[in-house]
Amino acid sequence: KLVCENLKALVPYESARRLFAASDNNQDAQVPVWLNANESPFANEYSIDSDLLNRYPDCQPSAVIKPYASYAGVNNKQLLVSRGADEGIELLIRAFCTPGKDSILICPPTYGMYAISAETCNVGVDVALLKPDFSLDIEAIKTFKDKVNIVFICSPNNPTGTSVAPQQIEQVLNHFADSALVVVDEAYIEFDATCTFATKLAEYPNLVILRTLSKAFALAGIRCGFTLANEAIIHTLLKVIAPYPMPQPVAQIAEQALSAKGLALMTLQVETISDEKAKLKQALSNFPGIELVGDDKANFILFRSAQKQALMDFLVSHKMFIRDQSKQRNLANCLRITVGNVEQNQHLLSLIKQFFASQS
Ligand code: PMP
Repeated sequence: KLVCENLKALVPYESARRLFAASDNNQDAQVPVWLNANESPFANEYSIDSDLLNRYPDCQPSAVIKPYASYAGVNNKQLLVSRGADEGIELLIRAFCTPGKDSILICPPTYGMYAISAETCNVGVDVALLKPDFSLDIEAIKTFKDKVNIVFICSPNNPTGTSVAPQQIEQVLNHFADSALVVVDEAYIEFDATCTFATKLAEYPNLVILRTLSKAFALAGIRCGFTLANEAIIHTLLKVIAPYPMPQPVAQIAEQALSAKGLALMTLQVETISDEKAKLKQALSNFPGIELVGDDKANFILFRSAQKQALMDFLVSHKMFIRDQSKQRNLANCLRITVGNVEQNQHLLSLIKQFFASQS
């Protein structure tokens, strides 16, 4: 009975791992294929110096901050490193929204953690749905002026794979200039590098950008993300972050990933994923039972199928895990596939082929 009122009805975020790890009690030798969390299929090899482990780590290790600032084109003081972009989302809500009073604005279908973080903090969630073509509904968004403290925009957007037109983001930044932060979640920006807003921090004092090493950098396992914003905003976020948020091994691995060698490797991997994505998309579009939905600006593909549930069950029975997005607003019957490596994508396509052959 001591549980906070706002947590009582909350269901924990159904992360891709949480959904299937427990149900995976199959004893056969089949190797599971994880194409449900938009991770990278590549296993990178980084090493750790364990001599450093007896000491607390730096809160904001400069060996990580400096190379990331240089990579993103911002200065060191415009950057915060945290446990994934997910922690950045929560820190922003904790620092800029008063519980029980303030609200954020989200534009679904979009990434689920903005709403969950707000709800766990007892902060309200207002909604301006994306238009049928998944562009922002600017008129609807504008009606929330003075009603919300943060507007979350995801570009490229998970799960629609669409990038938001820069003019639309600028309209939102201008409209909320004096009243709200506009957070542009660029978790997938490396797959559509042309549209970053990182270069516009000086122009828009209310702009915040989220980034991560979990996607293109193939490091979802280390939990390392970045918040880019003007110095005053970063200063405020430092008030709410934990004293030692960056475990020493995480900082060491991030530093290697951000070296010239690490960046070159990432670029190559992004190219490979883009090639695989094009092939996968082409192959999927040939199935009469599949309708591609949205765009392919990130490392995943969204599609609609009237046989969504049967297809999903069939894939799961073969330990091929993709993500059901059908509960998201306007995404009835939609499934999302993360682009895997050559073998994984071929395996997936052969299973889908088998499934539709068995239906006809
Ligand atoms: N933003 C978006 C749009 C995402 O899809 C994800 C991960 N699925 C995140 C943020 C969280 O990234 P991280 O692993 O850095 O917490």
